Amino acid sequence: MDKLPHVYPTVVHMLAAAAKQAPQREALVCQGERLTYAEYLRCVAGFAHELLGLGTSGRRVGIVLGNSIDICIAMFGVHAARAQAAPFNPLYTEHELRILFRDADLHVLIYAQDKRGMIEALADELAIAHRICIGNGAGGGRLNVWRDAAGLDLPQPLPAPADLATLQYTGGTTGRSKGVDLRHHAVAVNLSQREALLPARQDCERLLCVMPLFHVYAVAMCLHNMAYARGTLVMLPRYTPEAVFEALAQERITIFAGSPTLFSSLLNHQDFGHAVFTGLHLSYSGSAALPEDLLRRWEAATGVPVMEGYGQTEAGPVVSFNPLDSVRKLGSVGLPLPGTEVEIVDLESGRRPLDTGKKGEIRVRGPQLMAGYRNLPEETDQTLRDGWLYTGDIGELDGDGYLYIRDRKKEMAKVSGFNVFPREIEEVLYLHPGVGEAAAVAVPDAYRGEVITAFVAPRPGHPVTAEQLTEHCKSHLAKYKVPAQIFLVAALPKTGVGKIDKNRLRETRRAITDAVDESSGT
Ligand code: AMP
Repeated sequence: MDKLPHVYPTVVHMLAAAAKQAPQREALVCQGERLTYAEYLRCVAGFAHELLGLGTSGRRVGIVLGNSIDICIAMFGVHAARAQAAPFNPLYTEHELRILFRDADLHVLIYAQDKRGMIEALADELAIAHRICIGNGAGGGRLNVWRDAAGLDLPQPLPAPADLATLQYTGGTTGRSKGVDLRHHAVAVNLSQREALLPARQDCERLLCVMPLFHVYAVAMCLHNMAYARGTLVMLPRYTPEAVFEALAQERITIFAGSPTLFSSLLNHQDFGHAVFTGLHLSYSGSAALPEDLLRRWEAATGVPVMEGYGQTEAGPVVSFNPLDSVRKLGSVGLPLPGTEVEIVDLESGRRPLDTGKKGEIRVRGPQLMAGYRNLPEETDQTLRDGWLYTGDIGELDGDGYLYIRDRKKEMAKVSGFNVFPREIEEVLYLHPGVGEAAAVAVPDAYRGEVITAFVAPRPGHPVTAEQLTEHCKSHLAKYKVPAQIFLVAALPKTGVGKIDKNRLRETRRAITDAVDESSGT
């Protein structure tokens, strides 16, 4: 492998090093509460001792918390107690959590007070031995109690690189959610791999994290990234555009870790014109496809580059990024990280590597890959083959080795025998000034096999009709790619991590068809 920036044995070692080298630097900020690195480490150490007292070592600890100082302490504390951290979306319903908790076989559950009734009932039902309720009260969360304790050290021994670090449930935008087992070494090496292409400046960054910390993107690009760089992680417990504008100005933010949905929501907000971006020098984008038009609009308005990368939970998570100190290609998710092989293979057998410029499934090999899916040996064998991770994404490489994501394999449509990537149609829709957000999905069609249906949320103040958008598509796309229907909606549905929820769009489309069939008596 190419020489990497320092690789820590585990992220706990990394946090300990940050606290030693920069004890007084501000580490965490949330809702006016602030922790230095020395305080951060003491809180993590104190919580880890408490967990060890519950016999957690080698077991799984569930974390159901929103963005807060508590979730940071909880994640590192669980690792420091040599247990596996299993974060869950706090907005999940009882039904969704029951399935995941059962799968995770939790020994301890850490949750926020406002979920007490539901979580305690579930924990009783599933016989989860220990529960830790975190208050929402003023003056800091429950996990902050150790901040001023003298001489509180991390429990020894620290976790080992081969230990399981995280059990991360996938977002389930297509199909059911699966538990991804990640080892400490995979997580730690992936941080260094990303640093090699997209380093954060040491000892001075202030990163704004709005993305949820129960998801790999925010864990890798915000929580761990800032501890690696000894920077400050500024969190918002709840996303509102107003809170982002305020934090950007008041907290002297230098990096904004965004996603396509966030960029679009901020750009479309009435106060965007007054937002202050003076301290900002970089934005990240990941977790979903960033339409080129959105990227250009964000860059023109803020004056700072958006660095787009690509990853998935199963890949530890980062696979590629546009490099900071050489060519950045718009529309591309950049170069494979050092030590990471990316190949494009044929869709049928998955064994035949394709040439530059040819579209196929992206497969990835490298030290950051998951150990496997929990309790799903068959899915693990299908996804990890001969050391390669089959991502289920379709992409292509250019002559310089830059990767382009075309779509999810499952999203691809076959219209009259031609392959159509809904993402291409979305890119075209975004070129229209009346489009705030757009999504395209494949739907069955008796005559052409499948056709494309698009959903568009118009941009405020830019009235547009479906007919105008169809004309716009006709002037940019071959006939078979033009959406058969375009529906205008107030807003597009989102998953818990802010990705456009295509399953729900397909359901909406089915409901519309059923209603039409019923009214016409077919
Ligand atoms: P998750 O495991 O929730 O992080 O989801 C990973 C999936 O998100 C990938 O397999 C891709 O389908 C999608 N994704 C992540 N980053 C990008 C990107 N930059 N462009 C397009 N799709 C992306």
